[in-house]
Formats: sequence, C-alpha cells, structure tokens
Amino acid sequence: MSMATWMGEQKTGGPEQITIFTPGETIAEDAGLEIVKKFLGLAGGMGMKYKNNVQDIKKLTATTIEFANGETIDAELKILLPDWVAHDFLKGLPISDDQGFIITDLLMRNPKYPNVFAAGDCAAVTVPKLGAIGHQEAEIVAMQIAKDLGHLSAEKADQKLEPVVMCIGDMGAGKAFYIRSNVWFGGKDEVLEIGRVPYQLKMRYRDMFIANSGRIPAIGLVLAQFAAEHIKV
Ligand SMILES: Cc1cc2nc3c(=O)[nH]c(=O)nc-3n(C[C@H](O)[C@H](O)[C@H](O)COP(=O)(O)OP(=O)(O)OC[C@H]3O[C@@H](n4cnc5c(N)ncnc54)[C@H](O)[C@@H]3O)c2cc1C
Repeated sequence: MSMATWMGEQKTGGPEQITIFTPGETIAEDAGLEIVKKFLGLAGGMGMKYKNNVQDIKKLTATTIEFANGETIDAELKILLPDWVAHDFLKGLPISDDQGFIITDLLMRNPKYPNVFAAGDCAAVTVPKLGAIGHQEAEIVAMQIAKDLGHLSAEKADQKLEPVVMCIGDMGAGKAFYIRSNVWFGGKDEVLEIGRVPYQLKMRYRDMFIANSGRIPAIGLVLAQFAAEHIKV
C-alpha cells in the first residue's frame, strides 16, 4: 500500500498497477483469516489485483512472472518473499528437525538436550518467523536460565509460549495498519486498526530501533497495543 502511495506521488501509476499473489489458497493466513479478508477488501477497493493458488514460480523475465498454474502477469518490479530456510550448519544436528530448525518444547528447551535452548527464526516452533515472536521466546529462555541458576521459582519461570502476531505496516500518506492476532495459534483475538496512530507507532519504533541498536524494550508492545486499540484520531 505504501508502494501504491509512492507511485502516486511519483506520478508513475497507482494501486491498479500492483498485483499481490500467493502460491497457496490465502495470503498471510497466519495473521488471521478475518483480518486477511478485510485487508484484501481494502486493497481491492483501492484497485489492487490479487491472485491466489498460482503455485510455484516457473520463470521470471524482465517484464513478466510465469507461474506453474499457467498464469502470467506483467511486472516490471517483482518483490518475492521466499520460504524460510534454515542455516546449513544447523541441518542434520541431533537437536534439529528434518529441515534444520531447532526442536523445542513451549519453554524453548530441546527435549533431548534440556541445556539447549532456541529462540527466534531458528526455532521450529516459531511460525510465522517474526521478530515479535522471537522476542516473546527470548524472554522465556531468560526465565528458564534464571530458574536453572536458582534465581527464579518454577512457578514464575514456567510460562509457556503463547505466540501473538503483532505487525504494523506503513501504508503511506501518514497512515499504517496494526494487526494483533493469535487465532493461528488457537486464540480468539483478531484486531485490525488502520490510521494515523499506527503510523506514529511505526515511525517511533523505527527511531527507537536505530537509537538503541535494535534493542527494543518489552514495554513497547504494551504501549503499542494500548495506543493502537484505544486512541482513535
Ligand atoms: C523484509 C522483512 C520484514 C520483516 N518484518 C517484520 C515485522 O514487521 N515484524 C516482525 O516481528 N518481524 C519481521 N520480520 C522478521 C524478523 O526480521 C525476524 O523474525 C527476526 O529478525 C529473527 O531474529 P533472529 O535473531 O531469530 O534471527 P536473525 O535476525 O536472522 O539473526 C541470526 C543471526 O545469525 C547470524 N548467523 C548466521 N549464520 C551464522 C554462523 N554460521 N555463525 C554465526 N552467526 C551466524 C546471521 O548473520 C544473523 O545475524 C521481517 C523479516 C524480513 C526479512
């Protein structure tokens, strides 16, 4: 959406020249199907095109993308997000699954080697691969280590992972979307907010990320949730 705004500003086109596509039935289903439905309605209303079930990419040329299902779309610029792939050095280890992601329980501990922890994209349980979920897992690992060292009781430390997708995306023109969802993991929350407050949150997150060399305080998530879901301007 920010690309559509940018193209409008540059007088090189607009949303009707953008096609979003997915190899599967639904794009970004891990954000929650209701949210995806609203989002696609919004994008479609702006004029963007959407193609699903295109399967794999067969061929890329300077001006087209050819899909395995036989469809071809014209595209001067293509943005492709490939599948998650584990680092080579993790493949074939006794702590890894068949793809090279580290197996853990919901306390982020490897069941065979309980002194091995994983958090973030390398952990098999992290689906989708999101920094926000890695952050939630890193806190669990820290509490488990504190427990092992005798600094925290089991009651306080043994807080199993309950992942939440939190995502804020710049839409251009001073607006952004905010998603908080846990339906992919069996929860009931599926919140989508669009407006100027999420945009301000995105920009302040950027400032904080750069100022603190990527170290974001956990309180940021709580503040973002309050601001995006309760302040309407
Ligand atoms: C375009 C894009 C947009 C994203 N947007 C969002 C978003 O809006 N919200 C969100 O929550 N998440 C987002 N993510 C996902 C987020 O960036 C990742 O989930 C997060 O960075 C994972 O952190 P990590 O520490 O687990 O892994 P990484 O950040 O990948 O860190 C792994 C580190 O290990 C290093 N490494 C690799 N091999 C070796 C080796 N052999 N020896 C030593 N070091 C090695 C790598 O260089 C890297 O520094 C986005 C990702 C991408 C690509």
